[in-house]
Amino acid sequence: KAALAGVPVIYVDPKETSKTCPRCGNVSRYNRKTHAWFKCIRCGYQSDADRVGALNIAAKALDALGA
Ligand SMILES: [Zn+2]
Repeated sequence: KAALAGVPVIYVDPKETSKTCPRCGNVSRYNRKTHAWFKCIRCGYQSDADRVGALNIAAKALDALGA
């Protein structure tokens, strides 16, 4: 759908995006308090788990673009 709308599409590896902290980069399955909620065990950052996954995927896409 994005491609049809003229939005550039970048494929990223979704591995660990649901357990990586978007603030400090800590990767741990314990960051995932519940299925829906993310809380980093290192820096304390917390947010909705889907939002965290989306932030991490966006960061990976920017990385892939060399931004
Ligand atoms: Zn963190």
